[in-house]
Amino acid sequence: MTRSYSIRTYGCQMNVHDSERMAGLLESAGYARAEDPTEADVVVFNTCAVRENADNKLYGNLGHLAPAKAANPNMQIAVGGCLAQKDRDTITRRAPWVDVVFGTHNVGSLPALLERARHNATAEVEILESLEVFPSTLPARRESAYAGWVSISVGCNNTCTFCIVPALRGKERDRRPGDVLAEVQALAADGVLEVTLLGQNVNAYGSEFGDRGAFASLLRACGGVEGLERVRFTSPHPRDFTSDVIAAMAETPNVCHQLHMPLQSGSDRVLRAMRRSYRSSRFLGILEEVRASIPDAAVSTDIIVGFPGETEEDFAETLAVVREARFSQAFTFQYSQRPGTPAADLPDQLPKAVVQERYERLVALQEEISWAENRRVEGREVEVLVSTGEGRKDGATRRMSGRARDGRLVHFAPGRDGIRPGDVVTVTIDYGAPHHLVSDGGVHTHRRTRAGDAHEAGTRPGGAPTGLGLPGFGKPQAAVPAATGCGAS
Ligand code: SF4
Repeated sequence: MTRSYSIRTYGCQMNVHDSERMAGLLESAGYARAEDPTEADVVVFNTCAVRENADNKLYGNLGHLAPAKAANPNMQIAVGGCLAQKDRDTITRRAPWVDVVFGTHNVGSLPALLERARHNATAEVEILESLEVFPSTLPARRESAYAGWVSISVGCNNTCTFCIVPALRGKERDRRPGDVLAEVQALAADGVLEVTLLGQNVNAYGSEFGDRGAFASLLRACGGVEGLERVRFTSPHPRDFTSDVIAAMAETPNVCHQLHMPLQSGSDRVLRAMRRSYRSSRFLGILEEVRASIPDAAVSTDIIVGFPGETEEDFAETLAVVREARFSQAFTFQYSQRPGTPAADLPDQLPKAVVQERYERLVALQEEISWAENRRVEGREVEVLVSTGEGRKDGATRRMSGRARDGRLVHFAPGRDGIRPGDVVTVTIDYGAPHHLVSDGGVHTHRRTRAGDAHEAGTRPGGAPTGLGLPGFGKPQAAVPAATGCGAS
């Protein structure tokens, strides 16, 4: 009897991609995706530990599953990801109906641990301190026919004081460039048009094998991959952003003119306390260099408000950098104390009301800027990679959605039938809204692609059948919005 599974994913893209590996592993072990996740024989939680309420969310969900597990003893519950790496057997103590706990370094052990727990009728907790195998060597069941995640490194060598990632994902480990390129080529050969290179700190790529120019070389090498139309990457660290990377972005046609670069704070005093190893002038200097080489680049960022000890003057400096940087988008967070991070023990933790009030001022300023930056795109013709779904029904207008090359979300009136997710169209932008662009004039060109064929046929790269879009899978119920790295970096 084939056992079914369902995966619930929380957190960043690294977790979304890890979930694709967990699904690939389970299917290689003979499990099938549950049509109805509430009916699954095996429920896997791929957890995040970045935000304060991440714990509450996990234990709340585990509590909800207890009656279902009591009613169906054959059901198994597994908890993986960053919170599992942090909490370990605390999870089985607080939720003794959990069968398996595995960490960020041993994703590959999931099927064996499930079998062992079932055979021995005891909970299996296996947490490793360092990487067992590079997750990219594991089978994957990919979410999309037209866009793919490619992990180039795991872990991080930085020690930002608010961040728990190094403690949970370990020191940076880099994949060999040849392995990365082989995966990118295989995806493109399967019709994938867009890849996103993933790492906690992508532009530090190569530090493990002593090649500081490795990331720029990798971007240029992706430029030579046949059929690959779009290359994105997340997340870079301002300290490691070097001119060769900017030149590679500007000179490699399929590298998208989109850059997500976390600022975190505009105050040098706060950046020092965060141990971010750059200052606001350097950050703005990088933006200037990027915009000199890539004038149409869309730049987004992450900002934390209310870091311990942040004064009104510090916050004013953050607002000043935001005004000058003109980000197309900013993911803004209220600082939350994370046990196990150095910042959690800092004096001068700010009152919630102060943090909330500053947060609202920052969001209002950035909303104004995002809107103005999107209005500048009005009248421009843009290329859109059509994404899943029929878009929004808005009165008389039926719209579809997709991403422009600079990462902006576009809702467009197709004006003709036969356009599928995975196809490529060009449209003229009529209106720039604060968080998306709108085109109502119908598409100018429509290119049917192999990715569109695959989406229509329900196949995925690597030949896997579809069945995705299950709640919680692929759509991060995130502590952090989709576009960022770990909300850290
Ligand atoms: S914030 Fe990013 S760069 Fe800093 S320690 Fe965390 S993952 Fe590393």
